[in-house]
Amino acid sequence: MTHALWFDPSLCLVGGSWVPAANGETLALINPSDGSNLARIARGTAPDVDRAVSAAQDALQGDWGAMTAVERGRILTRLGQIVLDRVDDLAAIEAADVGKPLTQARADAVALARYCEFYGGAADKVMGETIPYLDGYTVYTLREPHGVTGHIVPWNYPMQIIGRSVGAALAMGNACVLKPAEEACLTALAFAHLAQEAGLPPGALNVIPGLGAEAGAALSAHPGIHHISFTGSVATGALVQAAAAQNVVPVTLELGGKSPQLVFDDADLNAALPFLVNAGIQNAGQTCSASSRVLVQRGVYEAVRDAMAAAYRDLSVGPAADDLRLGPLISTRQKDIVDAFLAKGADLTIAGQGHVVASAPDTGAYVTPTLFADVPPDHQLARDEIFGPVQVLIPFETEEEASAIANATDYGLVASIWTRDGARQMRLAKKLRAGQVFINNYGAGGGVELPFGGVGKSGHGREKGFEALYGFSTLKTVAAYHG
Ligand code: NAD
Repeated sequence: MTHALWFDPSLCLVGGSWVPAANGETLALINPSDGSNLARIARGTAPDVDRAVSAAQDALQGDWGAMTAVERGRILTRLGQIVLDRVDDLAAIEAADVGKPLTQARADAVALARYCEFYGGAADKVMGETIPYLDGYTVYTLREPHGVTGHIVPWNYPMQIIGRSVGAALAMGNACVLKPAEEACLTALAFAHLAQEAGLPPGALNVIPGLGAEAGAALSAHPGIHHISFTGSVATGALVQAAAAQNVVPVTLELGGKSPQLVFDDADLNAALPFLVNAGIQNAGQTCSASSRVLVQRGVYEAVRDAMAAAYRDLSVGPAADDLRLGPLISTRQKDIVDAFLAKGADLTIAGQGHVVASAPDTGAYVTPTLFADVPPDHQLARDEIFGPVQVLIPFETEEEASAIANATDYGLVASIWTRDGARQMRLAKKLRAGQVFINNYGAGGGVELPFGGVGKSGHGREKGFEALYGFSTLKTVAAYHG
């Protein structure tokens, strides 16, 4: 794979220069499809983060800070076109690094381009307000960048998560320090090279690969950071928030979920069925907004269970390059986590399972997609985020019971309602505890335009859409007295 890379993956980007980590060390990047060594990446630590934060501060004092919103927008728009031109290239890198089937990796690369286009177009459209006030005053607000923003990104959707957080932060004029995940960081590095090609000034984007406990912890605790965007696990998100709190720095946390789909007796089942399964198994279930719970009303429960079970029997899992419905998980560590959850389901009924193809190497991180039926809502598999291709079916009788079950986890990221009853759609859209609610669809195609984020342990703050631009900026009120 490394021969296909057009850049040296073992370096950090600091102030426009590609440099080794200060300690000279590197980490192995593993291809989850076969367990082979894919590349070596820099093992960035606190001194590298220091250098990156200084470079970002310099950029804010220099060319980047002086740039107009129109110019920032043009660079992002140009970057979007460069990404589009390189979609196949980026997809091949991501497939090898994350284990994503090529079609899914390609969709992520296209989404990255869309984020650049969207935030490129939005950069000069974020406006303040004038506020009617006391006689003799003129009052208005200014939207300003935070300054240096930290971005800690996980391995499941590197391109999409970089697009939505770094894209919005750059549009607002922040200078970014990006810490990609140690399991998958090649497209972060590729993106930074393409950003240079698009004309992004030195220091506007700095990239420090490394371990979470080293580079990630140093970034979240750094006193020179003014905002942190984190996507990943609840436990790590809490650590990041605690570290940022020492510097009184705002954080955006996107921490996953246990998102339900509610299927009512009057639902259009033909329309629903492809979504019911795909929402659970996309990216091998390693999706923060995966629908890992499917709540089904009694009248259609058996029909939905049987149709989903049949769909599961058609699911095949194999190497990313084979481009099947599912690839491997990110790592054998993640496979162990998911296998442990499957073992906790030993007391449950399996409705249907997919299969790992015979050609999948034993050294890959493959798990069998599994659909459990008749799962009690308080079972651990119905409450905890599994982050693998596992879904539970939960029967219910009434709308009240459905919303009570749907809201009975610590999470609240997304939810979907399948019903033809318009009044019920409106009632439930208000009642469900979630950052996004879908009616007769799931995910709405993942639109970059749609604000996204959670409540409860799914996190706080919003990314994506125009809303993210407010999160990556701060509001100044100017009150002028002129008599
Ligand atoms: P993680 O939260 O530990 O890692 C996510 C990012 O945080 C990575 O870049 C990592 O290097 C960094 N990080 C780790 N420790 C850190 C620290 N102390 N300070 C600052 N940054 C740190 O997630 P993981 O260990 O890769 O996966 C564990 C579980 O997290 C998964 O099983 C899954 O349930 C969940 N997860 C959720 C998402 C999501 O999109 N919501 C993404 C990845 C993982």
